[in-house]
Amino acid sequence: MSKQAKVEIIAIGNELLLGDVLDTNTNWLCKRITGVGGQVTRAAMIRDDTVAIADEIRSALDRLPDLIITTGGLGPTGDDITHQAVAEAVARPLKLHAEALTLVKARYETLAEKGYIKDSALTEARKKMAYLPKGATAVANPVGTAPAAVLQIGVSTLVSLPGVPEEMKGIYEETLPPTLRAIFGDSYYQERAIIAHCGDESSLAPILAEVVDAHPEVYIKSRAKRYGPEVRILLTLSAAGDARDEVERRIQSALDALIAVLATAGFGVEDQPPD
Ligand code: AMP
Ligand code: MG
Repeated sequence: MSKQAKVEIIAIGNELLLGDVLDTNTNWLCKRITGVGGQVTRAAMIRDDTVAIADEIRSALDRLPDLIITTGGLGPTGDDITHQAVAEAVARPLKLHAEALTLVKARYETLAEKGYIKDSALTEARKKMAYLPKGATAVANPVGTAPAAVLQIGVSTLVSLPGVPEEMKGIYEETLPPTLRAIFGDSYYQERAIIAHCGDESSLAPILAEVVDAHPEVYIKSRAKRYGPEVRILLTLSAAGDARDEVERRIQSALDALIAVLATAGFGVEDQPPD
């Protein structure tokens, strides 16, 4: 299996920490990243505070992840400070980015043509979205006005996405894939699950350890599904790699071994259909 790309996510916005808005962006990104074989190693929620965001980005960069994704704070208002914070974190100036400006201009022209806004004039507030940290690449936003930015810092790619979920998803799915492929490759991910009927999770531990040791390429996790007299434990096996056949073969082999040891221990097994 090729090296699993490590990812950190930083969700930015006071509303998240006030409890007004649920951070669904992180959850969505976690699923997508896991789905292509990446590993989210850490996720943080940070207020709209330049120093706090810059601190978080610096410490993320110190851990040398392959990818850092920020969401939020790219809009036209004064509390949208993510680019400023990234620029401070990496000690680069913010610069008016020609390509980003073209993207912003084009979006406002389209919105004006459709009659959604009065005019497409590039006001200071609108222009603000085209100031990116020096060296960044602008990525078009197919849904909203603020482009995303991609900045390579050493081994880490730093991607700043908007907070509005539809915009974040639109960019991730439509305009960001070339950047994502460079990080995750064409990795294939598979997950399978079974339910074990057993006394309790601790009686499962030695059995699991044996299978885990023999199948280091497969991630096996257990989670109690039901307590009480009829304990049910959900066992999930997952693996990722470049070759689909190989990933499927590894999971099947670990699953066969797991079912065999569970049967030997006298535990029943039930299929868990995929989500
Ligand atoms: P922003 O891009 O920071 O101006 O965020 C715009 C709006 O997107 C916010 O007012 C929230 O409603 C929503 N939003 C921002 N961050 C998130 C997040 N992590 N999860 C879900 N919604 C978010
Ligand atoms: Mg915000």
